[in-house]
Amino acid sequence: MEDERPAQVKLLGEALPAARSMVRYLSGSGYATRVSPAGSLRRMKETVETLDMVASSSRPAKLVQHFCAHMDAHRILSRSAHRAAVVLKDGFRVDLRVVNDALYAPVLRYQTGSTRHNHALEEYAAGQGMLVREPGLIDPGTGRQVSFAEEHELFEALGLPYIEPELREDRGEIQAAARGTLPDLVRYSDIRGDLHVHTRWSDGAHSISECAATAAGMGFDYIVICDHSRSAQFPHGLDASGIRDQIREIEHLNRERSGIRILSGIEAGIDAAGNLDIAGPVLQDLDVVIASVHSSFRMSREEMTGRITGAMHCDAVDIIGHPTGRILLKRPGYPLDFGQVLKTARDMGVCLEINAHPRRLDLPDILCQEAKGSGVIFAIGSDAHRKENLWFTDLGVTVARRGWLESHDVANTLTGDDLIRLFNR
Ligand SMILES: [Zn+2]
Ligand SMILES: [Zn+2]
Repeated sequence: MEDERPAQVKLLGEALPAARSMVRYLSGSGYATRVSPAGSLRRMKETVETLDMVASSSRPAKLVQHFCAHMDAHRILSRSAHRAAVVLKDGFRVDLRVVNDALYAPVLRYQTGSTRHNHALEEYAAGQGMLVREPGLIDPGTGRQVSFAEEHELFEALGLPYIEPELREDRGEIQAAARGTLPDLVRYSDIRGDLHVHTRWSDGAHSISECAATAAGMGFDYIVICDHSRSAQFPHGLDASGIRDQIREIEHLNRERSGIRILSGIEAGIDAAGNLDIAGPVLQDLDVVIASVHSSFRMSREEMTGRITGAMHCDAVDIIGHPTGRILLKRPGYPLDFGQVLKTARDMGVCLEINAHPRRLDLPDILCQEAKGSGVIFAIGSDAHRKENLWFTDLGVTVARRGWLESHDVANTLTGDDLIRLFNR
């Protein structure tokens, strides 16, 4: 068929706005009582193949009809009175499941998955003499089905605290819940600022002042301007005199502006030998120095590990940017001995970045979880090159949460003064 399109895998950063818009669309129909994304989107996985939606309605056929009439619906894959699957014009697949109100919470829980988490929870329940299935909890003695108005009631019935969707990957969350050692996950509202913003001073689209105003509007207390240092990859980056000029502008803006504090930083490149592509006393004048690999990716594991740990030994370095170098849906990270990177970061007091650009999400969540408890602090940076992209910090929080991180693990939860203290240690 000519207009047949393959399923489009979306980055979380693209899928999340699509999901929010779909929630608004379905809620606006007047036929939905409750509606939520489920599946990998609700778990905030870094890429999303299908957007699963769960809704409750007393007029399910009407809601399904409204869903299929969405202006971006390109093709209807399947449709019945209680469910439908459509492919949107951009190739993204959306599945809607409509249930009655009593089944909403149990079905939402089940459809949120992951499959492995669901199996593990079913096994745990079986160990308690109970049956957990999609429609809820079944008492094996009486065969009676117990349904729930809210998800947490199901966990409570099993003697467990609520397990946040981001943790439902079968990475030890059920055991931790049973032991009472689930993390108190960092919240979106805990984030006080963005630690990695590009401006027109290098390859960004907006001025420092425009970025600061947007960040202030988001309720941030501070942003760190981290333009590129000058290099072969970034010929329009800053040299030492450019950095001094930028610091002067930041000082000027800080005197004028109330409501947000602008910190000065740089994103320096790490050369193949592990040295920064900018050196000298000017680095001491900056509040924050991020060091990132932007070139020479083809190195052995030992060489790349030595390169990055070498940069951490540089006094000025506060944060290692996008530590694994992966680009989602494009290339895996370079080979790295992460244990060694982690150990050096701890010993040298260097933060590891959670680069929140939708294409990066680097560190990956699984490495955050591995690193948790090592004493290393994580720094969320939007890597925004436009003021509209400062919201990417939210994506960094999704990674942190999926990586079991708590507020005290994340530098962005500090006040501006404490942040400066952290980087001046
Ligand atoms: Zn970078
Ligand atoms: Zn950057």
